[in-house]
Amino acid sequence: MTLPRLDIDLGAITQNARALVDRLSPMGIQVMGVTKAALASPQVASAMRAGGVHGLGDSRVQNLSRLRAAEPDAHLTLIRTPMLSQIEEVVRQADASFNSEPVVLEQLSRAALRLGRVHEVVLMVELGDLREGVGAADVVDLARGVDRHKGLRLTGLGTNLACQSGIVPDAHKMAELSRVVTEVERACGLRLTVVSGGNSANLDWALSAEDVGRVNELRLGESILLGTEPLHRRHVPGLRTGAFCLTAEVIEVQDKPAQPWGKVAQAAFGAPSQRVSDGFARQAILAIGRQDADLDGLTLPAGLSPLGMSSDHFIIDASGTSIAVGDQVTMQLGYAGLLRAMTSPFVTKRQWSPVKVSAAGRGQ
Ligand SMILES: *Cc1c(COP(=O)(O)O)cnc(C)c1O
Repeated sequence: MTLPRLDIDLGAITQNARALVDRLSPMGIQVMGVTKAALASPQVASAMRAGGVHGLGDSRVQNLSRLRAAEPDAHLTLIRTPMLSQIEEVVRQADASFNSEPVVLEQLSRAALRLGRVHEVVLMVELGDLREGVGAADVVDLARGVDRHKGLRLTGLGTNLACQSGIVPDAHKMAELSRVVTEVERACGLRLTVVSGGNSANLDWALSAEDVGRVNELRLGESILLGTEPLHRRHVPGLRTGAFCLTAEVIEVQDKPAQPWGKVAQAAFGAPSQRVSDGFARQAILAIGRQDADLDGLTLPAGLSPLGMSSDHFIIDASGTSIAVGDQVTMQLGYAGLLRAMTSPFVTKRQWSPVKVSAAGRGQ
C-alpha cells in the first residue's frame, strides 16, 4: 500500500462518540457528529453513528452529499451558512442549515418550495468570537423573517466560539445564548427545539456545568476523532487519542552539520526554523510534507524530533538512532494535520475496525 498512509481505527471513533454521548446525555445534551476533518468519510460517519450521535454535520455541501449517499436515514446539517450559488444543492442534501443572512434564507425558502420540502433553519448568534452569526440584538428580527418563509422552519439557535478569536465558551456566554433563545421564543410565539451551544471547545464548560440552561446540543468533531479539546489541546479524560496515525517513509539519512551555512533569507514557508544544536547531527528525511500533513500537533516516536517541513520533505533529527532509508515512521497528528491528511490525495487511507461488526453492515 502506498505511503504516506493514514490508518483510521474506527473502533476508537465509536468509543469516543459513545463516551461523549453518555456523559452529555444526563445533562440533556445531544451530540452532533462533525465529519469535516475526516472529509466526511462514510466509514467514519458510520462509526460515529454506531457511538450514538443523533445527527451528522459538515461544513461542505460535497461532504454532505457523500454522507447522504452512505447514511440515507441520518439527519444532516450544513454547519456553515450556505453559498447563494449552492442553495438548491443545500436543500437537496441537508435537512437543516446554519444561517445568518436574510438573502440566503429567502433563496433557501424558494428552493425548498420548488423541491417540495421544508428546510430546517438554525440561526447563528454572534457572541464575541467574531466569526459567523448576527448580534444578539438582531436575532429576533431575523427569526421573524424565517417565520414568514413558507419553505423554512425555524428549529433553533446556535453559536460558535473559540475558532476565530479563541473566545472561551464559558457559563457567561452560554447563559447569554439561553437568554436569546427565550427572547426569540417570546417574540415569535414558538418553541425552539435546537439550542446548539458549540463545538469541542465547549466540553470544559459542559462537563463541569451546574446548569447548562437551554443548551441541548454540541457539535463535536475533534474530541470524537482525536480525543482532544481545542482550547488547550488537552486530552479529554476517558477518550482515546490514537484513532488516527500517519506513516511515512524515510528517503534520506545523512550525518550533516547541525547548523546550515551560507547567507540566510526566507525558507519555503517563511522564517527558517532555528536549529539549536551544533556539531553534527544525523538528519533523516521523510517523504511527506505540507501537502499531506502539518507540523502542528505532530508527535514522532521517541528519539526522533522535528526540524522542519517543506512541501514534500519532513526533516527530522535522528541522532543516536539507527534509522535507515526505507524505514517507516508512524506518528500521531493534531487537528490541522488530520484535516490536511484526509484532504490530501497523496495520503492513502486505511480504515479498519478491530471489532468485527460486518454482520450489521458496519465497518469493512
Ligand atoms: C468545525 C465545526 C464544529 C466542530 O468543531 P470541533 O472543534 O472539531 O469539535 C462545530 N461547529 C461548527 C460551526 C464548525 O465549523
